[in-house]
Amino acid sequence: EQDTRIAKISSVIRVIPDFPKPGIMFQDITTLLLDVGAFRDTIDLFVERYRGKDISVVAGVEARGFIFGPPIALAIGAKFVPMRKPNKLPGEVISEEYSLEYGTDKMEMHVGAVQAGERALIIDDLVATGGTLCAAIRLLERVGVNVVECACVIELPELKLLRLTTCVLFVSDFLCA
Ligand code: AMP
Repeated sequence: EQDTRIAKISSVIRVIPDFPKPGIMFQDITTLLLDVGAFRDTIDLFVERYRGKDISVVAGVEARGFIFGPPIALAIGAKFVPMRKPNKLPGEVISEEYSLEYGTDKMEMHVGAVQAGERALIIDDLVATGGTLCAAIRLLERVGVNVVECACVIELPELKLLRLTTCVLFVSDFLCA
């Protein structure tokens, strides 16, 4: 049954070439959100994997981790913690820099959102190089949180920098140029 759900999910994700710049095959999950059954199946597949694993934190990476993270968090009985772009969170933050293709970016989390010893799951829509997820892992580990796993809907077949298991629902057929 799992395979038919994944094929359906994959089929309703729209691929837009050359967005936001030439050579990028953009995986657009907004069309998945329009299909109630496929969106529900996406959440269910992760909930089936993580329910009962004693996870108390679901950390969502801005922006599309904010779409998939909260329904998973509610279903497994965990709190939701946003990992945001710089200067968005109003309280005291800790931040982690990470490198992009050109230059660097920063990810921030509120101090006090998580406690040392908690067990976390990190959610994003897509993993390409793994640089974004690695920054999220470092941020949580710096405050003593155990990152159980990362989970994404889509994996692009690129070189991964990840040193942690990442659960992906499917590998996209489309390569980045
Ligand atoms: P990376 O850090 O290289 O693993 O890139 C993953 C992050 O960039 C995620 O937050 C994705 O949402 C975004 N991203 C990278 N490539 C794509 C793509 N082809 N389509 C949609 N989002 C992408």
